[in-house]
Amino acid sequence: MTLQAPKGTFDWLPPRSEQALAVREALTAPVRRAGYGYIETPVFEDTALFVRGVGESTDIVSKEMYTFEDKGGRSLTLRPEGTASVVRSVLQHGLHNGQLPVKLWYSGSQFRYERAQKGRYRHFWQIGAEALGAEDPALDAELIVLAADGYAGLGLTGVRLLLNTLGDKECRPGYRTALQDFLRALDLDEPTRQRIEINPLRVLDDKRPEVQAQLAGAPLVVDHLCEACKAYHEEVRSLLTAAGVAYTDDPRLVRGLDYYTRTTFEFVHDGLGSQSAVGGGGRYDGLSEMLGGPALPSVGWALGVDRTLLAMEAEGLAGAETAESRVQVYGVPLGEEARRRMFLLMTELRRAGLDADMSFGGKGVKGAMKGADRSGASYAVILGERDIAAGSAQVKDLASGDQTAVPLAEIVTTLKERLKK
Ligand code: ATP
Ligand code: MG
Repeated sequence: MTLQAPKGTFDWLPPRSEQALAVREALTAPVRRAGYGYIETPVFEDTALFVRGVGESTDIVSKEMYTFEDKGGRSLTLRPEGTASVVRSVLQHGLHNGQLPVKLWYSGSQFRYERAQKGRYRHFWQIGAEALGAEDPALDAELIVLAADGYAGLGLTGVRLLLNTLGDKECRPGYRTALQDFLRALDLDEPTRQRIEINPLRVLDDKRPEVQAQLAGAPLVVDHLCEACKAYHEEVRSLLTAAGVAYTDDPRLVRGLDYYTRTTFEFVHDGLGSQSAVGGGGRYDGLSEMLGGPALPSVGWALGVDRTLLAMEAEGLAGAETAESRVQVYGVPLGEEARRRMFLLMTELRRAGLDADMSFGGKGVKGAMKGADRSGASYAVILGERDIAAGSAQVKDLASGDQTAVPLAEIVTTLKERLKK
């Protein structure tokens, strides 16, 4: 048997791969217009970064990491998410010593050893945006609006925004204690009981129905918020409303890490079954300090490209029309000399800004014309020995079938003229 891609991974092939590129482009367009700069970090980092920056009690660190030892004996991990790397990089290069907030966006592969299924892969792609070093409800609202605009830019109408706040240093401890008291009284397995002690908010995020059923009466953060957190959250909500971004308050929405504070949100799509989250994010005021940096209140999100494309397919937005017209011009050379001339003509056309491809492998006219039809081109340029002798080529309009002889020296200008609309 020939080799297969590893479990939980897949290849992006045309034309779907083009749609993946288009999704990345559309999801990042809004942040690029809002002063966010592009950052690329390594695909692997010291394992310690994720253990500290994502948190030992999380699913990611406890069971989903691709960790390995390199030949120098270092423990490295393929990145499971982007935020920890971005904060590491900002601290390492002192970007936080300049103007704040530091606004960055990224686009890249993430790796998690998960139970592979539709919408849940071991290798997937995220677009992320982070704004570091400012505590301002307008910044939280800005990021949420930019993500919502990204989805809207793709034509998606079924993406819903769920919104919550997690409190801060002031009010979170009181809530945590109340939640622990409630959870300790439930019938839960041993790993979950341990989680209550380390990171009780994570338990609220447990997806098992038998656990969810017991959580119905759990205390909610909203009932424990301090005045400052209440006011902050009210302001975020009112800014979202002013920007025309609809949301649903979800008092049970959590991000289970201790350094997540205040604003928390998730974008969900109902056409995706149980893998409904297409993106999520929130404020992480404590993360920089967890990584040995100064206090750097920050907010960010990560959007899943794979699930966004699935959502588009669910809405019928990713059909054949996006796979249209790979090239504008297709060359059909008939014979050795024609192939040489056609090669140069293609080069000229491309340098003149047209999308052009030609038939390769010495096909006959029938096979080559089939290639022209499949290419999606508007025009075929057919060159045979008689054409060369006459110093011209046949330019065929593939839609109407009309064919005219055009002097070789005028092909580029003629096609440029005809294709400009
Ligand atoms: P879930 O609850 O579905 O596991 P998550 O909370 O682990 O999601 P985040 O870490 O917040 O997800 O990542 C942000 C986005 O990245 C998710 O909303 C989702 O769209 C996407 N994503 C996360 N894990 C995967 C995966 N294994 N395969 C494909 N996309 C993923
Ligand atoms: Mg997950």
